[in-house]
Order: sequence, then structure tokens, then C-alpha cells
Amino acid sequence: MIGAGLSGSAVAYSLAVRGWSVTVLDQAEGVGAGASGLPAGLAAPHVSPDDNVLSRITRAGVQATLQRAQTLLQSGTDWALTGVLEHNLEGKRRLPSDTGDQHSAPASAAQIAAAGLPPGTPALWHAQAGWVRPRKLVAAQLQTPGVQVRWGQRVQGIERRGDEWAVTDAQGQTLGQAPFVVVASAFDSLALLRPLPGFAVPLNPLRGQVSFGHMADLNQDQRQLLPPFPVNGHGSFISGVPTPEGTPGWFIGSTFERQCEQAPVREEDHVANQVRLATLLPALGLAMAGQFEPDRVQGWAGLRCTLPNRLPVVGPIDRLRLPGMCLSTGMGARGISLAVLCGELTAAGLNNEPPPLPAALTQHLAAERFVLA
Ligand SMILES: Cc1cc2nc3c(=O)[nH]c(=O)nc-3n(C[C@H](O)[C@H](O)[C@H](O)COP(=O)(O)OP(=O)(O)OC[C@H]3O[C@@H](n4cnc5c(N)ncnc54)[C@H](O)[C@@H]3O)c2cc1C
Repeated sequence: MIGAGLSGSAVAYSLAVRGWSVTVLDQAEGVGAGASGLPAGLAAPHVSPDDNVLSRITRAGVQATLQRAQTLLQSGTDWALTGVLEHNLEGKRRLPSDTGDQHSAPASAAQIAAAGLPPGTPALWHAQAGWVRPRKLVAAQLQTPGVQVRWGQRVQGIERRGDEWAVTDAQGQTLGQAPFVVVASAFDSLALLRPLPGFAVPLNPLRGQVSFGHMADLNQDQRQLLPPFPVNGHGSFISGVPTPEGTPGWFIGSTFERQCEQAPVREEDHVANQVRLATLLPALGLAMAGQFEPDRVQGWAGLRCTLPNRLPVVGPIDRLRLPGMCLSTGMGARGISLAVLCGELTAAGLNNEPPPLPAALTQHLAAERFVLA
């Protein structure tokens, strides 16, 4: 496994529980160096009037993530099934009429009021949704018996040696060799995959920043306005979740910046997140304006790895020409919702099991869709 983020750790977990022995190599010195270092994010479904492919896949993905969190994480500190209110700002989010999906519905008047939004505000309620601290999930998945992690291992090349794949560093030293290799190194996967003949996957970096602060710094009036559940719809606001320092915090994000391959924290992104909060939850945004002062607000930034149609690339790359080489990346802005499902898909495929998704959906994720004719 190349990459120990949400994607790589999820594949490693899914293989290890099937009895495989997995070695995970990561260039960093510990958990959360990439986008999965996000302090807190949401597992929440996408909805569309025609219940499109993305909606069906995220619904299955969120279920898989919530189950994994239930198995491996501590509720209340690492994750929570809170439900999520989606403020339907542009009225775009319409529910399908006939999916039998019991998990998303128009928000009730009480839920809208609890979010601090005026009566009649268009909003949806996603019952099967909540917040997750991705680092916690990554760390727990990597601790599965059968998974060995080697930090500080930057993979620079992948080559075929007999019936196996060898991965090498910048000096050409072998870092590992195995019959199967899974590339899960987010946008950096592009550099590893570029030399492969007949395969071109359009991965892009998409920088994002979340702004956060400590609940202890909020006054009584501000605290009274905090919704008791996360709210999304124009970025997302989460409160009561431990900050990286461990004390309860609030989080608003995230920004979107294309064509940027670095992830510094930027002052102007805090301003953008302040505006985001004021749009998503106007009363709270007004009350919390002072929390965005440069000496108060904290930030975390990372690079999402995206594909044009917002669906990840998963599984074997080219069974004939590259036997045993798989991908699990391109999670975009939904790695919390998708990586666990993608890990299960990859592991089921390698283990010759039926996929955990209907074939009509699996084909939309297949890495093989990028094999050149
Ligand atoms: C600001 C922001 C907010 C977000 N909010 C949400 C949210 O609310 N909900 C949600 O579902 N998703 C959210 N996401 C997206 C989510 O964080 C990502 O989709 C997910 O973390 C991607 O996981 P990954 O394992 O694919 O990539 P990463 O976490 O980036 O992991 C890649 C790993 O590969 C390693 N690596 C890279 N190159 C090499 C190499 N050559 N050799 C060895 N190791 C290598 C890196 O060190 C890294 O550990 C957000 C992302 C950002 C940036």
C-alpha cells in the first residue's frame, strides 16, 4: 500500500480483516500528513432529484463509514452520529420522490429552529450522517492485526520484477516487493502512475482550508446560538468536537482553490470562511465575527485529490498489462464518506468476492475506466 491516509488505511483494513498481510508505506513520519489530517469533517450523503450515481454511491459510502466508525472509534470524541442539517441555500437540493431512502427528509420546524435559522428556511435533515475526526479513523484502521506501517518511506518508482511489483525510492533502493500493489497516495499518485503505458487518470489538486477555534473562547450568547448538530449546505459548521489540542472546538470550512499544489494556511481564507459562516448560519456568523481575528482563529489546510466527475478511481488499473496493481484515490471533498467503501471494493475485488455495491454503480468507480483505447 502506498499512502497511509483514509484511502490507504481503509484498503489495508479491509484486506487485513480478510487475512491478508499488508505493508503500508508513507513518506510522512506519522498519521495525517495529507488531506486526512483534517481536524474534523462530515460523513453526509449527497442528494439529487433523480437519485443520481453520486447520490447512490455517497449513501452507500456514508453507511460503510458509519459502520466502521461504530466498530473502531469512540463515539463522542472520535466521531458522532449526530444527524446533519443541510441548509438548502439555493434550493438546488431536491430529494428524489421514490428511492425508499428513509435517511434524508425535509428538515422539521424544530430542527430548523435548533439550527438558529428562521422559520420556513429550506433545509434537509440527514439522519444517517455525522462528524468524524479522520486522523482517528486512519490510526484505528492502521492498527488492525496484519497491517504493518513503515513511515518515512517516499516511493518514487514502481516496477515489475518477475511476478511481483517492487517499489523504489529516489535512489532506486527497493522499499518493498509484493504480488499486489495499491496506489493510494492522493494527488502524488499522478507522478507514480504517469510512466505507466496506456493509462491516464486526470487527478487534480484542490486546496482547502478550515478555520477553527476553542469553545472556551466563546461567550454565553455565542454558545446559545450553536446548533446541536453539524450544518452544511455552503461549507459546513461543526461544534463541540475536539480540536487537535484535545479541547472542544468549533470548525467552519472549507475553501476551494484549484491549481495549487501546496497547502499553506492563508489569512484570506479565514475571511472567506467567516463569510461562509455568515451565509450558512447568519445569526451565528454575526455573533462570532470577533472569533476570526488573526490572533484568535486557527487554521488547517490540505490538498484534496479530485477527478472531473467527482467519483474516485478504485480497483485494478489494467488487469492484462498491469496485473495486481490497484488504485484507491480521487476521493475529492468526500474522502470521509467514500474511502471506507472504496477500501471494501478494492479488497473484495482482490479477494475474488462479489463487490459490496451493485455492478451499475461499481463501474462508475472502476480505475479501468481510464485505460486508453
Ligand atoms: C479542507 C478540507 C476539508 C475537507 N472536508 C471533508 C469533509 O467534511 N468530508 C469528507 O468526506 N471529506 C472532506 N475532505 C476530503 C478528505 O479529507 C479527503 O478526501 C481524504 O482525506 C483523502 O484521503 P487520501 O488517503 O486519499 O489522501 P491523503 O490523506 O492525502 O493521503 C495520502 C497519503 O499518501 C502519502 N504519500 C503521498 N505521496 C507519497 C509517496 N510518493 N510515497 C509514500 N507516501 C506518499 C502522504 O504522506 C499521505 O499520507 C476535506 C478535505 C480538505 C482539504
